Amino acid sequence: MKESDKNQKDPGPSKEKMEEIKACLAPCGLSCEACFAHVDGAIRDHSIKLKEKLGNFDIYARRFETLVGDPVFKKYPQFKEMLDYFSSANCTGCRSEQCKLFKDCGVRPCHQEKGVDFCFQCDAFPCDQTHFDEHLHERWVRLNEIIRKSGIEAFYEKSRTRPRYV
Ligand code: SF4
Ligand code: SF4
Repeated sequence: MKESDKNQKDPGPSKEKMEEIKACLAPCGLSCEACFAHVDGAIRDHSIKLKEKLGNFDIYARRFETLVGDPVFKKYPQFKEMLDYFSSANCTGCRSEQCKLFKDCGVRPCHQEKGVDFCFQCDAFPCDQTHFDEHLHERWVRLNEIIRKSGIEAFYEKSRTRPRYV
């Protein structure tokens, strides 16, 4: 590779690709797409499908309790409650509405004021504007440092196959 090529700045994703990325990743770097609360997320989608497959398993869970003799079936109502909860997820993502989980999140209004798509692009990063707790703050710093190193597109592609809850 020629020295001049090496020094050329990576142009980054195309405008269309960036819009796709922004629809999935919040400005803090977390994946809205992989969040359990997202209306189009895989967790909601799989929960709905599993509910459909299970049909009237409530009745069968009671039968299997004695038939199989395994007390785990007693827990089916709690499992179903969780599945119902995941299936009712309705958040459209951080860029279109206030986050339903981190209600005090400072990143959403702040990134708009700063005019950046992601925190890693901001001159003030890492700042004290997020209102995140210690755990989330650490994760936010780590994620944005990874994005800065790998590039937003590579990070996004990886985030599509990685669970959000690691
Ligand atoms: S905005 Fe918050 S609640 Fe909504 S999908 Fe993103 S992380 Fe989840
Ligand atoms: S000031 Fe902090 S929260 Fe706001 S955009 Fe910059 S890095 Fe993100």
